[in-house]
Amino acid sequence: MARLVMKFGGTSVADIDRIRNVAHHVRREVEAGHEVAVVVSAMSGKTNELVGWCRAAAPLHDAREYDAVVASGEQVTSGLLAITLEGIGINARSWQGWQLPILTSNAHGSARILDINGAELIKRFKERKEVAVISGFQGVHKDTGRITTLGRGGSDTSAVAIAAAIQADRCDIYTDVDGVYTTDPRVVPRARRMDRIAFEEMLEFASLGAKVLQVRSVELGMLHKVKIFVRSSFDKPEDIDPHGTPPGTLICDEEDIVEQQTVTGIAFSKDEAQISVRHVPDKPGVAAAIFGPLAEASINVDMIVQNVSADGATTDLTFTVPSADFQRSVDVLNKSKAAIGFDHIDGSIDVAKVSVIGIGMRSHAGVAADAFKALAGRGVNIRAITTSEIKFSVLIDAAYTELAVRTLHSLYGLDK
Ligand code: ASP
Ligand code: MG
Repeated sequence: MARLVMKFGGTSVADIDRIRNVAHHVRREVEAGHEVAVVVSAMSGKTNELVGWCRAAAPLHDAREYDAVVASGEQVTSGLLAITLEGIGINARSWQGWQLPILTSNAHGSARILDINGAELIKRFKERKEVAVISGFQGVHKDTGRITTLGRGGSDTSAVAIAAAIQADRCDIYTDVDGVYTTDPRVVPRARRMDRIAFEEMLEFASLGAKVLQVRSVELGMLHKVKIFVRSSFDKPEDIDPHGTPPGTLICDEEDIVEQQTVTGIAFSKDEAQISVRHVPDKPGVAAAIFGPLAEASINVDMIVQNVSADGATTDLTFTVPSADFQRSVDVLNKSKAAIGFDHIDGSIDVAKVSVIGIGMRSHAGVAADAFKALAGRGVNIRAITTSEIKFSVLIDAAYTELAVRTLHSLYGLDK
């Protein structure tokens, strides 16, 4: 017997038929003797609709009321799944975040989970063989008692946090893909599903634009050592052997991966914009004068490249921001032009960031050099480069994204 958390995303609970399919997945695990807590998202598209309603009601609205509205999507699916489970003879009940409770910070709209009491769930597993159906994405602020939400995609984080709280053996994330791929299969048809990936690598994938899991859920999994298994909810429940190993990707500790490759995968993001601040004085305090106002405007700066000044007087500073924030960033900088003392700003939103990820890079030299050579061979110009221990990223013209990703994917032997 095992204790499982099963999480189903929006497309997996998109309508009553899909919810029935979910109920059959749950029944399979219950009949195999497992204790099960299910975490559900809202029906696909629902949260967007609710967010839209808040904006339509008032463009500037109270974040606490926004949370009261958008948390409702998950309340609906948790209730519907509990009803469906009961209908096929499985003992079940729904739980909202405030009922367990899932205590969070008061950062409405992007709250952090502080504590979850799992005792009642465990008691009910034992005494009533009851399946817990829990609304993802939501919690309650520990002091005010008001409903909070965890940020878009937050039900992944709910699932992993609940798995930690009830000491689950595994957290299964059922989604519309059957695992984590070496890169986006729509760009590289020869991309492979990985059997296993280390938490740290998955953290990079999630942060760099692979939309399989919310970043925070991977951080939590790493912290609490929760084994996360990404698998498809489209596999027919009756075809799956609950004691076998279904197709999917296990996110786990580095030590649990026997054959570690140098490069695990390639991530990319086209939602990038480049900003170059030209001829800034080369003196202490200039970086602070540039990035301070951007931080105050909550603009997330990513790659930062500064040259060593040639004449000792001025230098250029280049960085990237989300493309949605491009114009706002330029405006913010222009407002501080006198304080910063630059000559002019240029930039582009037609850029993409391509990143090569792998824990093996820690112990292998020349991994990045190989990439630069291969990209040059394809005529891809690199605008900026950043590196960290287990990844490096290049900024290139967006038009070359697919070519660059394919080139790197085969360079590192990732093609199937
Ligand atoms: N329903 C929420 C969203 O769309 C949470 C989630 O699906 O994880 O962001
Ligand atoms: Mg999601």
